[in-house]
Amino acid sequence: MSQGKINVTADNIFPIIKKFLYSDHEIFLRELISNAVDASIKLKTLSRLGESKAELGELQIEVKIDKEAKTLTVSDNGLGMSTEEIEKYINQLAFSGAEEFVKKYEDKSDAAAIIGHFGLGFYSAFMVAKKVEIFSKSHVEEAPAAHWSCEGDPEFLLEETDKKERGTDIVLHIADDSTEFLEESKISGLLNKYCKFLPIPIKFGTKEVTVKEGEGDDAKEVKTTVDNIINNPEPAWTKTPSTLEDKDYKAFYRELYPHSFEEPLFHIHLNVDYPFNLTGVLFFPRIKPNMDLQKNKIQLYQNQVYVTDNLEGIVPDFLTLLHGVIDSKDIPLNVSRSYLQSDGAVKKISSHITKKVADKLEELFKKDRKDFESKWDDIKMIIEYGMLSDEKFYDRAQKFALYKNVKGEYFTFDEYKTKTKDLQTDKDDKHVMLYSSNAESQHSFIARAEAKGYDVLLMDSPLVSHLLQRLETTNEKLSFARVDSDHIDKLIKKEDDQPSKLTAEEIDKLKPIIEGTVEKSKFIVQMENLSSDESPFIITVPEFMRRMKEMSLTGGGMMGMGEMPEMYNLVVNTNSDFMGKILSESDADKQSALIKEGTNLALLSQNLLHGEALTKFVENAFNRLNDN
Ligand code: ADP
Ligand code: MG
Repeated sequence: MSQGKINVTADNIFPIIKKFLYSDHEIFLRELISNAVDASIKLKTLSRLGESKAELGELQIEVKIDKEAKTLTVSDNGLGMSTEEIEKYINQLAFSGAEEFVKKYEDKSDAAAIIGHFGLGFYSAFMVAKKVEIFSKSHVEEAPAAHWSCEGDPEFLLEETDKKERGTDIVLHIADDSTEFLEESKISGLLNKYCKFLPIPIKFGTKEVTVKEGEGDDAKEVKTTVDNIINNPEPAWTKTPSTLEDKDYKAFYRELYPHSFEEPLFHIHLNVDYPFNLTGVLFFPRIKPNMDLQKNKIQLYQNQVYVTDNLEGIVPDFLTLLHGVIDSKDIPLNVSRSYLQSDGAVKKISSHITKKVADKLEELFKKDRKDFESKWDDIKMIIEYGMLSDEKFYDRAQKFALYKNVKGEYFTFDEYKTKTKDLQTDKDDKHVMLYSSNAESQHSFIARAEAKGYDVLLMDSPLVSHLLQRLETTNEKLSFARVDSDHIDKLIKKEDDQPSKLTAEEIDKLKPIIEGTVEKSKFIVQMENLSSDESPFIITVPEFMRRMKEMSLTGGGMMGMGEMPEMYNLVVNTNSDFMGKILSESDADKQSALIKEGTNLALLSQNLLHGEALTKFVENAFNRLNDN
């Protein structure tokens, strides 16, 4: 038996551990279980190399709660520690045993699979325990078992003990302010969070199952108690992609997100070992334009040990909308986010993932275009976001990014250019693509465009204005116009204006009359000679104004435009016979009633007439029915 002081430079490191080391005290469980996993994998390695004579048996880790004794115990049957090893690896705090092991077996493959980069590791137990004991028996037959005990101060006790079975029990005497860690539900929640995919089976209590006993007609179902294993030691991402089918990936998705009702649209299996190590499975979820975006769904693991679900800085922002798992031992842990973002390995990993995602999308598009089209509406947000935030991805996406028209047909940008070029090029040789943000409410405009043989795209995602801006800057002589931003003849100008039925004097007389009748703060009156069978009044929202406003609402663009008041163009068709009627009306009241009625109809056709104005309008219309 020996007594002594733990080798630390600070006078008393324990209060620091307890208070400041991790804001998340719960991390201690991950640390202890990681050590138990390490001990098990190390023993496997030694045995395989013929450096241990131990019978491996079934390697297993167990977590036990004893409410009466107020202890939480983590046990393993891994390689164990002799007193000398405890002295070296536990007491000489600064020395990491994992480091030594990895160095020694570096070139022997799975030595690198040893976890050991989590910082203070074992000592994090003191965040929740007032006393910690180690009972350990080394795999080396001759070495006597060891007992270590420490009460959260630099004093420790180290003695021989009579533990018979190989392996290590870490016993935590839970502190009075941490009794939550004696609750089964709390521990099982933590195990589920941190240990779900660890490579060694972890037992936590028992559970009842029904099994069949006997055969044929004699078979009966009996209840029996079995170990409750909380983890899946061989999750899908650790397997070779060619051994898995679609249903296996779907099952893995349910394993990851047991509470999700949705099925993923497709998956990407990452599997690289050079020049960096990266495995994982990413899933494309369905994303609807008005859905809450959920970012922290991808989980980061290091050799199957859960690290975090905040992947900011590790994968490009647009891909944080994906679901799934990434596992890499090349990602430095316990460093600041800004350090992570500048880390070379992380940068490579990030661009590799982007490339893989682009590869997969291109492959899906080529393999089964119809199927890809059927998924497009659900994935376009992620892809459009990627195209806007990542230059390389924008280029790659030219091959698979789709544009849907109001008839529900899908085109790549090149296909759409070819389709619309001839008809939709204006007299100044500018190719104009028309789009609608809502086929219902912009129906009359779409109908006018289609009557001319033009095609109209449906662009209804929140990033549209940014995307259009981007497409316009990368494609010369091309512009986008929303169908309701002007009269169709103005949007795609074919020939010079047709002659006006009204004389210049008549127009000059009519304009102030209309301006005096409609709400000045809302309408800009615009006199146009359209064809005589066109509506007398048309309400439009100028493309430039609207786009600026949308862009400022979704970030970028001009600041402060979000608070801009609603403004419309009131296009007055000077060739409509209705204008003659207004001019020849001598009663001023009747004249303004005609103008109001006309503009109200224009508003109504676009679902812009609301509240009192709508009530009055309908009332008047009914009254007229009675009068006639
Ligand atoms: P790290 O895991 O980074 O080395 P820890 O503080 O977690 O740091 O552990 C220190 C060392 O103690 C380990 O490297 C290992 O040698 C030893 N150790 C801890 N727990 C166990 C265990 N359950 N079985 C065998 N050795 C262990
Ligand atoms: Mg450790």
